Amino acid sequence: MKKQLTKKYNKQKKLFVPEKMILTAGSSISKKEISYVLDAVSNGWNEHAFDYLHKFEYAFASYIGVKHALATSGGTGALWLGLATLGIGPGDEVIIPEITYFACSDVVVLLGAKPVFVDVLKDTWCMDPKALKNAITSKTKAIMPVHIYGNPAEMDEIMDIAKKHKLKVVEDACPAIGAEYKNKKPGSFGEFGAFSFQGAKIMVTGVGGMLVTNDDALFEKAVYLNDHGEAKNYRKFWQTSVGYEFEMSNLQAALGLAQLERIDEFVAKKRQIFDWYEKRLRYVDGLSLNFERPGTKSNRWMSSIIMDKDIGIQRDDLREALKKRKIDTRPFFYPISMFPMYTEQNTPIAHHIGLQGINLPSGLQITEKEVDYIAKSVLDVLGVS
Ligand SMILES: *Cc1c(COP(=O)(O)O)cnc(C)c1O
Repeated sequence: MKKQLTKKYNKQKKLFVPEKMILTAGSSISKKEISYVLDAVSNGWNEHAFDYLHKFEYAFASYIGVKHALATSGGTGALWLGLATLGIGPGDEVIIPEITYFACSDVVVLLGAKPVFVDVLKDTWCMDPKALKNAITSKTKAIMPVHIYGNPAEMDEIMDIAKKHKLKVVEDACPAIGAEYKNKKPGSFGEFGAFSFQGAKIMVTGVGGMLVTNDDALFEKAVYLNDHGEAKNYRKFWQTSVGYEFEMSNLQAALGLAQLERIDEFVAKKRQIFDWYEKRLRYVDGLSLNFERPGTKSNRWMSSIIMDKDIGIQRDDLREALKKRKIDTRPFFYPISMFPMYTEQNTPIAHHIGLQGINLPSGLQITEKEVDYIAKSVLDVLGVS
């Protein structure tokens, strides 16, 4: 019945209907990427084994506006290494927003420390500085703000609180490459910033990440720990600490360098995609979209909607109905304290956002026609059209 209606509706309005599922993410690979990777695989060996790695790290640090960058196996490895370098361990507490990818809490737990989950802001979906302040105890050692879905966290307030309480800050800027907070890039505020180039992110290396810092000594220590704690200057294969190996390959760095050289194009496209959605969905009662506070710029990594509870359809039923129309979506990240390893926290905003939020298709290849089709489908399922 519903299907028939849709068909009829499609016919009347001459709706474009996709042949394949429209996916939530998707990268853009051009001749530049292919030529850099071909060069790396052909020539990037022996004395050239680190050429692309060093070029990529140097270019990334200057793009973010920091002194140092270390390419890693992924965003998770970068977060882990950052916390390890700061000496986070048993007995320490690290404050994390509820709405994030579970990499954040995993690395804290794996270091023997305790993640403390706090609520988020209703508009930006990032850590609420008031909730952060209330969660600080004598055991708190670090704060991990997350620039979720490319929306910048409130870094002025968070850095003030960190300074006042002498806490370290490791920013999860994994999805936020190209975002801005008061003319500075997320990831450049704390002791460390972590980025991800996983396949769904705005720029990709397949898997991969980057750890950045402005602190010379911390950078040196991170490099040393990521080299298994080998005291290279003393003796080859002489270890003075147990360590890690969250490495990126030169081949991936070649891909990453080419992607970074095109980052402005990617951010512009992501913002364009959001504008297309916003034009069509912003007036719908019961839906809220990504929000940009004055003085900030989101990279609009994922165009998203939050559904009011009384909108008349369950979040997952809307996702199911969209899937039938060949529209792929992602649920928001669940509040992490809901998982069985933790004690569920009273974080009403995170619970609302985490259970009512949907990431809409936002891949770099998406067209306005497709966005139009998706927005019309959302309206149709909601009964607004
Ligand atoms: C993507 C992402 C990560 C993890 O990055 P990986 O490279 O997959 O390890 C961590 N945190 C957030 C908020 C992310 O979006």
